[in-house]
Amino acid sequence: MTEQNPTGISAETLIRLSAAQLAEKLAAGEVTAVQATQAYLDRIAAVDGQVNAFLHVNAEEALAVAAEVDAIRAAGGAEAEALHYLAGVPIAVKDLIVTIGQPTTAGSKILEGWHSPYDATVVERLRAAKMPILGKTNLDEFAMGSSTEHSAYGPTRNPWDLDRIPGGSGGGSAAAVAAFEAPLALGTDTGGSIRQPGAVTGTVGVKPTYGSVSRYGAIAMASSLDQIGPVTRTVLDSALLHQVIGGHDPRDSTSLPEPLADLVAAAKTGNVEGLRIGIIKELHGEGYQAGVENRFNDALELLKEAGAEIVEVSCPNFQYALGAYYLIMPSEASSNLAKFDGVRYGLRVLPEDGPMTIERVMGATRAAGFGDEVKRRIILGTYALSAGYYDAYYGSAQKVRTLVQRDFEAAFAQADVLISPTAPTTAFPLGEKLDDPLAMYLNDVATIPANLAGVPGLSLPGGLADEDGLPVGIQLLAPAREDARLYRVGAVLESLLEAKWGGPLLAQAPALGAVSLETQEAK
Ligand code: GLN
Repeated sequence: MTEQNPTGISAETLIRLSAAQLAEKLAAGEVTAVQATQAYLDRIAAVDGQVNAFLHVNAEEALAVAAEVDAIRAAGGAEAEALHYLAGVPIAVKDLIVTIGQPTTAGSKILEGWHSPYDATVVERLRAAKMPILGKTNLDEFAMGSSTEHSAYGPTRNPWDLDRIPGGSGGGSAAAVAAFEAPLALGTDTGGSIRQPGAVTGTVGVKPTYGSVSRYGAIAMASSLDQIGPVTRTVLDSALLHQVIGGHDPRDSTSLPEPLADLVAAAKTGNVEGLRIGIIKELHGEGYQAGVENRFNDALELLKEAGAEIVEVSCPNFQYALGAYYLIMPSEASSNLAKFDGVRYGLRVLPEDGPMTIERVMGATRAAGFGDEVKRRIILGTYALSAGYYDAYYGSAQKVRTLVQRDFEAAFAQADVLISPTAPTTAFPLGEKLDDPLAMYLNDVATIPANLAGVPGLSLPGGLADEDGLPVGIQLLAPAREDARLYRVGAVLESLLEAKWGGPLLAQAPALGAVSLETQEAK
């Protein structure tokens, strides 16, 4: 194979490259953006019938963008020079983020067939970088859930074991990346929906500092908690994608004014010497699966050997974080979701009999259009905000939120970065927690504090649990605006772990990772 031979790389190899590796090959002319995009579209066609990661595939437009990049590169000159590093690298987008030219459903029947008249800011930035958008990924309805089973369009399946959940709410984005159906994806994280799916699928997921990535065009679940972020296979890829989507946006009033730090440089720093890494006492041990705890301890050992100082910190108010979250989040959601009234967007259901008033149309539409989990949270939120209960529930939860923030401040006085398992267990079987909302909510016990405080969090694969051979996630947390530290520590830990495994964890995925495109097509 010569370096210039554009057909020398098989589709099989192409889809397993990281985004950074693919970008290098595109820039070197070893492959074209059309070849890469087509390879991913073929992979989607071959395996997504089993995974159900995508709600909509956008082949024509993705290929057109790829062809445009190839043409610019072939012509050379200033325009080719000015191409973004990730130009031509395809990406999938969680279907909570609005896009012109593709439907946006939020995983709900109430938005079936709805098309946004505008692009989210992050989507505009992907388009400016000329990254082909492969399609929209599945999620729990309006991002409410931890398993993607609350999607109105059927569950997504975990590529490691198709009978297990891929995490949620962003199970579609995580499964797409883990099943090599996309090199990159966008997710949203209100209480863990990027990090927890990352943990259970063996992928990397980042919730940026609140305000560092624009929320304009992300359908709001709980506005004071929501953040858009990267879903990738490597830490460096997350830094690259974060750099594309982040930075100030005047259309989001909570957007931070300052420019982003150089996150890519941080991911390439290559050392953690002298860095203080704090184990959060309350976020491991009791209630965490033994195999999760074992992989967590392995990670600590490696960081220690690499020269980091491991300290223990205590965040006593974290025990109340889950309870506070499940008052604040439904309260904000009950208000945000009031706009789905059968008049302005999507579905409209007329009452079968009786007077045709606007209230009755609204009632019939919401009864038919929303699923059980969404209704549960709207009722909970409306109750928590009602006169007479507001102080006892919503008001108390906001006070707990302040206490959680203070715990973080105290912890970050003792440590530069904090560490914990991302989720208490590995991926559980589909259906196991569907009828038990409290058991489902517990999956986010380790991820929710970061949303309450607005601090950034990164989850990376920590290995496989001894009991079930399924991926375990390691979570890193940093002070607000210090996302760069996550990339620095994350990239070092990733390289130490991969040296131990002899390659990326996903290479060991049994269900789909090992199945070749050729085999799938031959079936
Ligand atoms: N699983 C959590 C919930 O159900 C978090 C969801 C999210 O981050 N969007 O609310």
